[in-house]
Amino acid sequence: MREYFKRLLGNAETKTRIGTAIDNGRMPHAFLLTGADGSGKRMLATEIATALNCEGRGEVGSPLPCGVCNSCRRIYEGNFTDVKILEKPKDRATIGVEPIKLLREDMFLSASESDYKVYVIDNAELMTPEAQNALLKVLEEPPLGVVIILLSTEGDKILTTIKSRVQHVALSRFGEGEMREYLLSKSEEARRLSREAPDKLEAIIMSADGRLGQAEALMNKKLSDACESGRETVLEILRALRRGGSYATLYSAMSDLPQKRAELVGALELIITAIRDMILAKHSEGRLLFFTSREECQRLGEEIGVRRLMDIYDAVAEAHSYCQRNANVSNLISNLTAKIKPVQNARKDI
Ligand SMILES: [Zn+2]
Repeated sequence: MREYFKRLLGNAETKTRIGTAIDNGRMPHAFLLTGADGSGKRMLATEIATALNCEGRGEVGSPLPCGVCNSCRRIYEGNFTDVKILEKPKDRATIGVEPIKLLREDMFLSASESDYKVYVIDNAELMTPEAQNALLKVLEEPPLGVVIILLSTEGDKILTTIKSRVQHVALSRFGEGEMREYLLSKSEEARRLSREAPDKLEAIIMSADGRLGQAEALMNKKLSDACESGRETVLEILRALRRGGSYATLYSAMSDLPQKRAELVGALELIITAIRDMILAKHSEGRLLFFTSREECQRLGEEIGVRRLMDIYDAVAEAHSYCQRNANVSNLISNLTAKIKPVQNARKDI
């Protein structure tokens, strides 16, 4: 059988389904690809665009995309006029209606060099309702030879009317075995770690929690050191959250959080992972993702208390989502600190 999208790890069933549709000429005109950051949405979108325009498309038996023809190479290099990617402008929190209108006009121009014009909209959940409605018009009557691919970490924020006109593909998280195999085959740093510090490689794979992009970023040495020191900061914060803990201790631990957005997002994810561990460890023997010691995890969880853990989880998850949306980083940390601060004179539960 023909091999489809071999650059994308895992997701065998999805790859076969979309690949076969391309082969049979029954390609949907719009997709919504959902999955966590690092789950391969962008990679799959590129692979679809490449397969549609690959010069080896008609050759039975060759992989699709072939990866070596002129079109494939130019798409991978980002030099192909008929594949366009729309991202949120850096200085905005949303994708407004204007860029969508421009995209729509472009869709009605004829293709300049290919059979298919592919439009990828990254973080599609950030489109304003007005922008989504503008897109809806083109989804209702798409021009021939146009494929629209929406990428989203939060598919539930996309209007139902849009969702009813696109094919939804949920990317699965990668298994630890798949990730280990992939990293060892692709990354010199992964091979070095597996020889010199196998524990660290395993810690990276575990904290990436099924997101390959995350694992690759953590492979970068500086980041993996940051991850180590990040773990310490997170533990300090959790200890400060114990019943009877003081605001001053929490404030001091929170001020060790990184001030760079990308690193702060990572640190907040570590806190979320740690809280999930503590909630789960109470009820199950499932594998822990943050804690290396189950005993420490259970003890700390007891000392904070489940109800409070749930509240803290909500507050951190909310901060994590703001952090990805360009909120001011130092305000975000102080607001979060105020929200999760220990209650000194806790009312007794009635
Ligand atoms: Zn090709």
